Amino acid sequence: MKITSEKVINQTEKFGANNYHPLPIVISKAEGVWVEDPEGNRYMDMLSAYSAVNQGHRHPKIIEALKKQADRVTLTSRAFHNDQLGPWYERMCAVTNKDMILPMNTGAEAVETAVKAVRRWGYEKKGIEENKAEIIACYDNFHGRTMTAVSLSSEEEYKRGFGPMLPGIKLVPYGDLKALKEAITPNTVAFLMEPIQGEAGINVPPQGFLKEAAALCKEQNVLFVADEIQVGLGRTGKMFACDWEDIEPDVLILGKALGGGVFPISCVAANKEILGVFNPGSHGSTFGGNPLACAVSLASLDVIQDENLVEKSFDLGNYFKEQLEKIQSSIVKEVRGKGLFIGVELHEKARPYCEKLKAEGLLCKETHDTVIRFAPPLIIEQEDLNWAIDKIKKILQ
Ligand code: PLP
Repeated sequence: MKITSEKVINQTEKFGANNYHPLPIVISKAEGVWVEDPEGNRYMDMLSAYSAVNQGHRHPKIIEALKKQADRVTLTSRAFHNDQLGPWYERMCAVTNKDMILPMNTGAEAVETAVKAVRRWGYEKKGIEENKAEIIACYDNFHGRTMTAVSLSSEEEYKRGFGPMLPGIKLVPYGDLKALKEAITPNTVAFLMEPIQGEAGINVPPQGFLKEAAALCKEQNVLFVADEIQVGLGRTGKMFACDWEDIEPDVLILGKALGGGVFPISCVAANKEILGVFNPGSHGSTFGGNPLACAVSLASLDVIQDENLVEKSFDLGNYFKEQLEKIQSSIVKEVRGKGLFIGVELHEKARPYCEKLKAEGLLCKETHDTVIRFAPPLIIEQEDLNWAIDKIKKILQ
């Protein structure tokens, strides 16, 4: 029987757990920045699967790597070595400028891994008394949906009915150095933050905050942990969002675009002093570091490099932001972001505007009620971006 959007949406609503509120569109094909529904309608993707598709949908080089690897070996578990993991480790160390990598699959798992690493570092290296380690995170953060990640969250709806939460977590306002300073105690092991908050509505910290926070952490022997799962790998116009202030986090967490929107892979990168706290038996994942993910990831990194996606994000992002700032509209409160990671905050709910943009052939998603997030694949061409800008102007003006 022919697949129709209506049928798929009905099946999803009838049989699926109700944990998402998607726009009523079914995607059955995609290429580059464009997606298509079963009825053949075309839309531009301005969400990029929450920045997992930075390289564009089904990038030919990434698909080629996937197919080639699928014909050789896909999964070995870590009970044995596989011939893609070694080269991927070496490449990731070069990309992150760290000397150790721990691979996982999803972003939330990588956050879990980082939390375990910094806690153990606290006990073994900093000399904190057992079970006393504290982690400082920020209000409005998003680090995923596992129990650790929601324990870190300040959002009631992420936690309601799921208690008890993980202890040893303190929250400070995002971008508030004084609050961070006051929150640090001798038991603090790490400050975990997103260098630009994504899900919270593209919140950019005050200029200088990252640098000052990193310096404060160093002075206090607290690890600075950057969750760059959404903002890393070119999204903000720099390879890493921390590069905007020339800082090197002690621990870097990556995911999403690391697998080019083709296969899940995430990781934690840090120096031996920190990731060296793991030993056989202390952590793992059946699929973590699998050869298919590593082959796809190597190709995904090649595409970012070979196609200058970081520079592209910087240049087109500046242009896009300028154009959005020019929109004269009483609905628009603020335009903010860096590179091709832009939030338009409205004075009212954003969802109806996302629906209107969908009717114009442009897919984007509201975040935190009043913000529209625009994050197209970084391979987007000027011409397509101009097309999108015209649609956005039409809807917001
Ligand atoms: N951390 C950040 C900053 C994210 O944006 C996300 C996902 O949106 C996650 C962690 C969780 O990643 P995943 O959904 O792959 O578990």
